[in-house]
Amino acid sequence: MDFRPTEEQELLRRTVREFADTEIRPHVREWDRDQHFPIELMPKLAALGLLGIQCPEAYGGAAMSAVDYCICIEELSRVDPAVALSVAAHNGLCSSHILLFATEAQKRQFLVPLVRGEKIGAWGLTESTSGSDAAGMRTTATRTDDGWEINGSKTFTTHGRVCDVMVVMAVTDRTAGTKGISAFIVEQGAAGMTPGKKEDKLGMRASDTSEVLFDHCRIPADQLLGAEGQGFVNTMQVLDAGRIGIAALAVGLAQGAYEAAVRYARERKSFGKTISSFQAIQWKLADAATRIEAARLLTYQAAYLKGRGQRTTIESSMAKLYASEIAVKVADDCVQIHGGYGFVKDYPAEKYFRDVKLTTIGEGTSEIQRLVIARQLLAAPPVSAGSARSALIVVS
Ligand SMILES: Cc1cc2nc3c(=O)[nH]c(=O)nc-3n(C[C@H](O)[C@H](O)[C@H](O)COP(=O)(O)OP(=O)(O)OC[C@H]3O[C@@H](n4cnc5c(N)ncnc54)[C@H](O)[C@@H]3O)c2cc1C
Repeated sequence: MDFRPTEEQELLRRTVREFADTEIRPHVREWDRDQHFPIELMPKLAALGLLGIQCPEAYGGAAMSAVDYCICIEELSRVDPAVALSVAAHNGLCSSHILLFATEAQKRQFLVPLVRGEKIGAWGLTESTSGSDAAGMRTTATRTDDGWEINGSKTFTTHGRVCDVMVVMAVTDRTAGTKGISAFIVEQGAAGMTPGKKEDKLGMRASDTSEVLFDHCRIPADQLLGAEGQGFVNTMQVLDAGRIGIAALAVGLAQGAYEAAVRYARERKSFGKTISSFQAIQWKLADAATRIEAARLLTYQAAYLKGRGQRTTIESSMAKLYASEIAVKVADDCVQIHGGYGFVKDYPAEKYFRDVKLTTIGEGTSEIQRLVIARQLLAAPPVSAGSARSALIVVS
């Protein structure tokens, strides 16, 4: 096993870090306060290849690996998790679904402008009455003479109000259960599609999250995405990859919070000493650094296996579950180390603390990750003592 990043990966990390420090950091508080989705940042993200990170060059993408993708998301999240969430939704949900399941003509029409940053992508699975139980969705798509008509609504859609292209899951055959759900590409401005309420959120405030309404929304037949009835199955594959992105987002967020805590602990004096000299503070920092490193390894392992074309349902869920839960702990300790200053907006601690909670909820809650992991473990043949999941890490 070789855990070292390549020279290209080190350069990639430095490049994205510098970009985030110069182009994003100065605006983080203002965007958060105003719930401002930084649309002005999109051309700059596109110029760096960050809106088509894993897309092949044939579609104008940066053709980076799954591990490279994690590095990009991590470095954005270290500075502003809300920007990282937007980049992850654009790349890891909307574009990824199109890249995996669209026809060549659909990729030319929809993927290329998404990769160039000319269009912003959204992905709608969740509805007001079905989140974890996504298959319980009510939105329908029915055939018309020349295409499809969509009726219903999607909730908590990242980029719901600002997207140009949205992948929408809808029921096409109520009698067929999960095999009766199909995916569609809908363009903003399609008659009958209207953005609904913009959510006023606890955290991730610079990432637009909105409701999207479909009222007799008619789209052409060639905007069915993937085979009819395969939308839900395809969605699960999209989420297997997407969850690795949210794990990377949690790792980056935890890294940012940890660095803020170290900086503060070195400066703040109490009882005539810097607080970093107290063992209570040192142990928090040591635990945080150890947890972040473990989460990063789980995340990169899932990404590495995905890059090899392996199915990563369990590895993705393990990475997402662990990384998001340790990130919550690290962000909490970061506030604690800042004392009262962790509770006010002059320091970054309180924002990490607010943003981090999304990581245990979005793209499947922690409870759902545990459910996925347990199902996979129990479906597998019994393993001999000691071999358990560590066998997954064997790299040939
Ligand atoms: C900022 C933000 C951005 C989002 N972006 C998108 C997006 O772009 N596209 C999209 O489609 N969705 C998006 N979502 C939706 C997100 O994926 C859902 O909120 C999430 O899946 C949980 O669904 P829910 O909110 O309906 O909670 P529920 O499913 O109602 O869950 C409520 C609670 O019950 C628990 N629970 C539910 N079922 C079980 C079970 N079987 N066993 C144990 N516990 C259970 C859950 O873990 C949770 O604790 C976003 C959400 C947020 C907050």
